[in-house]
Amino acid sequence: MTEHRPERTEEVPGTQEPSEIDGVVIRPAGEQLTAAVLSVGREILLGDITDTNATWLSGRLRGAGIDVRHHHAAADDLDELVEVVRWLSRQVHVIVVGGGLGPTSDDLTRDAVARAAGLELHHHDDLEEAIRQRFADLGRPSMPSANLRQARIPAGAMPLQPIGTAPGFALTMPETDDVGATRVYALPGVPWELKEMFVGDVEPEVGVLAGGHATVTRVVHAVGKGESDIAAEVEPRLAGRDDVELSFLARGQEVQVRIMITADDADAAREASQPVLEEVIGALGPAVAGIDDEELEDTVLRLLGDAGQTVATAESATAGDIAARLGKVPGASHGLVGGVAVYATEAKQDLLGVAPEVLEKHGPVAEETTRELARGAKERFGADWGIGVTGVVGPGKKNDLEVGTVFWALAHPDGEVEVHGRQVPGDRELVIARLGSAALDLLRRRLQED
Ligand code: ATP
Ligand code: MG
Repeated sequence: MTEHRPERTEEVPGTQEPSEIDGVVIRPAGEQLTAAVLSVGREILLGDITDTNATWLSGRLRGAGIDVRHHHAAADDLDELVEVVRWLSRQVHVIVVGGGLGPTSDDLTRDAVARAAGLELHHHDDLEEAIRQRFADLGRPSMPSANLRQARIPAGAMPLQPIGTAPGFALTMPETDDVGATRVYALPGVPWELKEMFVGDVEPEVGVLAGGHATVTRVVHAVGKGESDIAAEVEPRLAGRDDVELSFLARGQEVQVRIMITADDADAAREASQPVLEEVIGALGPAVAGIDDEELEDTVLRLLGDAGQTVATAESATAGDIAARLGKVPGASHGLVGGVAVYATEAKQDLLGVAPEVLEKHGPVAEETTRELARGAKERFGADWGIGVTGVVGPGKKNDLEVGTVFWALAHPDGEVEVHGRQVPGDRELVIARLGSAALDLLRRRLQED
């Protein structure tokens, strides 16, 4: 067999032995299992829907220790789909197809995979029965004849029982002169059906194909430092660690340092990741705002809880976004007293007692005004800490101030108020996110100092 698939050279645990299905080698010895996601549907190409299936599938496949090499979206066109499936089968060991399993004539995944594999479609009585049963279970009128086509899958394929009304299937495309066998999984496009079928039927099998190892991803959330500074601090500490895959993801309001480690199983991978995680935390010091699922807002609320303290907000530019971010954290009520969106000048005066002279003299977006907002929030809500923010979030300049001019202030329990100002880059959405994070991060740092 000539092997034309791109080679992977890294040593991955559990790959010394080949993986087979029904005696057919899918992953030759020494190779890491590779996969592609193929999303079927013109709406994806038109930009009408976001391919969240591909994102979700990639995360799951990575967790099973599989190297995802391609995301492909294709229109509902038989010839094109056949071409794409054939091409992908030359690149990877496993293809996960999402969508195109419906009952209409533009649902072509069954035909395309069958043709790419050189197989006929076969009707399955038990699938027809399962689809009829789904209609009955859902209290719908008897199954339309169009749905019969959903009971036809490529000859020799393993049917995957429908979650909704669309069955899926798993099939091995046979080895050819120039490429090894390829395992193909066809799943419905409806996200919840795809997920359930993947977790129930596909994940266990591909986990075994991968060699039974697992990859964990640990995330360190850093706020208040740029991506390149963060990389410069972290990378030297992990130089020479070939077993660690490090990536940096700038998300506007934070930079995520992502650590990926593969080991024999999930527990071993997690254990191996711990010292690496601590190394990254050590490198970043006070810029670390959270770890894994604990993001900035979660950390702030945890620290408030530890201190038995509360916060309130007075938000001009962010119009309540900071309070909303805190409010999304389960159990926020122990730390968040409340917040006001004070957009208009009169609202700042009437609701928070900002003196007209201050507004008159400095304007709505200014250090002094922001200071008064933080003080007002703390006092009017009777909270331990008060956050105030103002800024020009765009799209245009305001009072001669550039877009991205922002101020954030924190009123401390002892009455002191500190104010910071900066010019932040980005569009309206980003400026709002960044300003909110700057304010929350200031509180987070002060709570950690205590
Ligand atoms: P099925 O295989 O179950 O027939 P399909 O691809 O024919 O699926 P569509 O009718 O195209 O399904 O889409 C059904 C629903 O699933 C729609 O709400 C669509 O937005 C969603 N959907 C389809 N594909 C994706 C995708 N790749 N990512 C996110 N949502 C998707
Ligand atoms: Mg479709």
